[in-house]
Amino acid sequence: MAEKHFKYVILGGGVAAGYAAREFARLGVNPGELAVISKEAVAPYERPALSKGYLFPQGAARLPGFHVCVGSGGERLPPEWYTQQGIELVLSTEIVKADIASKSLTSASGGIFTYDVLIVATGSTVIKLSDFGVEGANANNIFYLREIDDADKLVAAIQAKKNGKAVIVGGGYIGLELSAVLKLNDIDVTMVYPEPWCMPRLFTSGIAAFYEGFYANKGIKIVKGTVAVGFDSDSKGDVTAVKLKDGRILDADIVVVGVGGRPLTTLVKGQLVEEKGGIKTDAFFETSVPGVYAVGDVATFPLKLYNELRRVEHVDHARKSAEQAVKAIKAKEGGQTIEEYDYLPFFYSRAFDLSWQFYGDNVGDTVLFGDNNPESPKPKFGTYWVKDGKVVGAFLESGTPEENKAIAKVARDQPPVEDLEQLKNEGLAFASKI
Ligand code: FAD
Repeated sequence: MAEKHFKYVILGGGVAAGYAAREFARLGVNPGELAVISKEAVAPYERPALSKGYLFPQGAARLPGFHVCVGSGGERLPPEWYTQQGIELVLSTEIVKADIASKSLTSASGGIFTYDVLIVATGSTVIKLSDFGVEGANANNIFYLREIDDADKLVAAIQAKKNGKAVIVGGGYIGLELSAVLKLNDIDVTMVYPEPWCMPRLFTSGIAAFYEGFYANKGIKIVKGTVAVGFDSDSKGDVTAVKLKDGRILDADIVVVGVGGRPLTTLVKGQLVEEKGGIKTDAFFETSVPGVYAVGDVATFPLKLYNELRRVEHVDHARKSAEQAVKAIKAKEGGQTIEEYDYLPFFYSRAFDLSWQFYGDNVGDTVLFGDNNPESPKPKFGTYWVKDGKVVGAFLESGTPEENKAIAKVARDQPPVEDLEQLKNEGLAFASKI
């Protein structure tokens, strides 16, 4: 197969790739200089839509409606945009070998792509129950959600199993968002997770109590403190039940597993320095090899605000790291430098008519404020994290855009606080006055 050379290659076609392509176009790229190589069959899109609007029973989001960069309020980049810019979008092409020393990538069909500058944006893959040898985990209608193909299979199952039963394995954001959207599709939903409350990596017990109560009021059953250890299936191979470690058996027509992901760094293993499970970069997302950059979920970068290396699996960072890397590449070409990446961690989720945002770091003491009664007609509450006498993180459910901005500012500015009881009483007013 022919070898193709590009000045810049973006390996991966997800969120970071799309935002990087836009930044290249903004800063100037000549036709034929840039290629985006993706295993997926479609141009980069806003991945978070897959667990939200894409699964709605009515008015579901469909491409081209959610190509990047609509998720951040930017212009939508459909496939034609890449053509107009002279950017080669190489779709349905999986790279199976990366040779960093010879600056070449090999695809599954034997195509070779060489480059001067590489941006690794391969994102994450899901952890599968079959990875742990869970019995029956290969039955039909057991789903994972990462790419649009996965979402299409789930949509087909929702249609085929009308009014059926779903078991959601995992209590993270995928589990919470999927449970909500399946319920909206009139599916009977049970969530199962081993931890004492949902989203334990971020939520405090007080935050989680609200969501668990709210979900229970919607008719979603929650089984905590146990895990799925096996699946039964019928003669067609379709899943029929989930066996739990505590001996219970839950009927299921559909199972969705959301038990976490892992960054896709295999292609560059042993060729780029890794740290904390990701590809180690500097504040410009350049890796241990000059001219090779890593962005989005795969990058372990210096988080300036906390003076430590971190890997962040969230869409806001995927967008911003991609833009930072391209700015740095272009600046370097012009013999210039740019400011170091100075990221404020930001996560969010939406389910039913709820919507939360979190900024900063979830370490230290916590202070819950506001109305977190799941029965309330208009619940609104939040939590501050306080470390070494300073507010370092803030969470808010149902905030207005201004209120969300205010909690972001608190997390960035880290104002001192002496009295936690007073902070609790002030609640959102504390953030609004910063
Ligand atoms: P990705 O967007 O995953 O893109 C990686 C791309 O690389 C994919 O196109 C993949 O096919 C391609 N690829 C991988 N390996 C190869 C290869 N060998 N050859 C060719 N192509 C390859 N974050 C939030 O902050 N809020 C949310 O609400 C939220 N919701 C989410 C919902 C779902 C269902 C999922 C899966 C993720 C969600 N996230 C959310 C996380 C967020 O989407 C990711 O952090 C973000 O997509 C990371 O961007 P990325 O470009 O690094 O990786």
